[in-house]
Amino acid sequence: MPIYEFLCQRCHEKSSVLVRNISAPVVPTCPFCGSSEMVRVISSFAYHKSTQAVWDESGPPRNHADKDYYKDPRNIGRWTEQRVKEMGVEMPPKVQEKIRAAREGVLPPELGV
Ligand SMILES: [Zn+2]
Repeated sequence: MPIYEFLCQRCHEKSSVLVRNISAPVVPTCPFCGSSEMVRVISSFAYHKSTQAVWDESGPPRNHADKDYYKDPRNIGRWTEQRVKEMGVEMPPKVQEKIRAAREGVLPPELGV
């Protein structure tokens, strides 16, 4: 049975939910504050990765003008990451999560890719 991790958007505590039936929707509730504003995080390991570590893993960026640029899912969100990096801050977890989801094939419209 998989264990999903969720980050509470209200109190920012993280909690794990053991998923007994993977086909049933998971409606997590924060055990700390009772909020249901929970965002799934893929794993605590990935969540703590720095932007640089993510870059190192996904390799050097390709030429942005390449017409196949976004066919490589590793490039999705890279410019968002770069902008955040230029500002000298770490990517907010919510944005990291969206980029990760996009790289897995779920494209959020606000990334504009
Ligand atoms: Zn909470």
